[in-house]
Amino acid sequence: MVSTSNDAPVIAFIGAGNMAEAVLGGLYSNGHPESNLRFSELVDERRNYMSEKYPNVFNSASNDQVVQGADIVIFAVKPQVLQTVVKGLASTLHKNPSALLISIAAGIETTDILKWLGAKDYEPCLIRIMPNTPALIGEGATGLFATSVVTPHQKELTERLFGSVCKVLSWVDSESKIDAVTGVSGSGPAYFFLMMEAIANAGVEAGLSLEDAKALTLQTCLGAARMAQESEDDLTTLRKKVTSPNGTTEAAIKSMQGANIENILRDAVIAATNRSKELA
Ligand code: NAD
Repeated sequence: MVSTSNDAPVIAFIGAGNMAEAVLGGLYSNGHPESNLRFSELVDERRNYMSEKYPNVFNSASNDQVVQGADIVIFAVKPQVLQTVVKGLASTLHKNPSALLISIAAGIETTDILKWLGAKDYEPCLIRIMPNTPALIGEGATGLFATSVVTPHQKELTERLFGSVCKVLSWVDSESKIDAVTGVSGSGPAYFFLMMEAIANAGVEAGLSLEDAKALTLQTCLGAARMAQESEDDLTTLRKKVTSPNGTTEAAIKSMQGANIENILRDAVIAATNRSKELA
């Protein structure tokens, strides 16, 4: 095991796939000491790839080996293998009751993880987070839920860890609200991909090349979001400011509202939220 020589927390990733790579890569670029980062990965090819990319980060095929002595353990495996992974690590984790455990597995509730851990003499500190795919390029948005024993310091640490891949981090006070986070931001990127696809295709129909229509659409989406983030105006005011009476934007907005776009989007968010509840 690699020895550590500083005060930065020792962070162990269980599973070194896409999301773990994004978070580990963010920590690495932000100067988190390499000796305080570790990952386990079952698949040799993936472990070799990660080990070539991060040569000074300790890695192992054994989950047990990387969690020993870790301050923070991040479960970054797919939801369907989490139960086996947690049960397999339970006895090792019981020897380290102050470790902060973080799960990024979509749809798995903290009560299930606590049940699989089966700790009898203490309550593990557990945080569940629900990032979205733009986290892979450092532009994620995530909801976070902490069980009652998690300390403010541990919450702050978690914000720092995931702040490298998520620009918006929203704590929810009840775990059921993670379903709403899933409905808005978890599944949200796909809503915007669909809308951008439709707008770009319409641009082609209106006479633009696909390349131009796509570039204009993407930058308009990005620019509108940035403007909404930076402006003091609320979203309704911003929309009204660019909608002159009898102008081009008003023609478009009337067309969208005639097709009940607000209801369509509302139903979509509620459908995703409800599906998230069913899957939990
Ligand atoms: P991934 O498949 O890229 O990574 C998972 C890794 O875990 C793989 O490399 C796999 O080989 C490894 N693994 C499997 N079983 C293992 C075991 N027993 N021990 C050690 N390693 C094992 O998946 P991902 O996209 O990085 O997603 C990881 C988690 O993050 C999932 O639970 C997913 O729900 C959640 N998540 C991902 C995203 C995203 O944008 N990718 C967004 C939100 C949530």
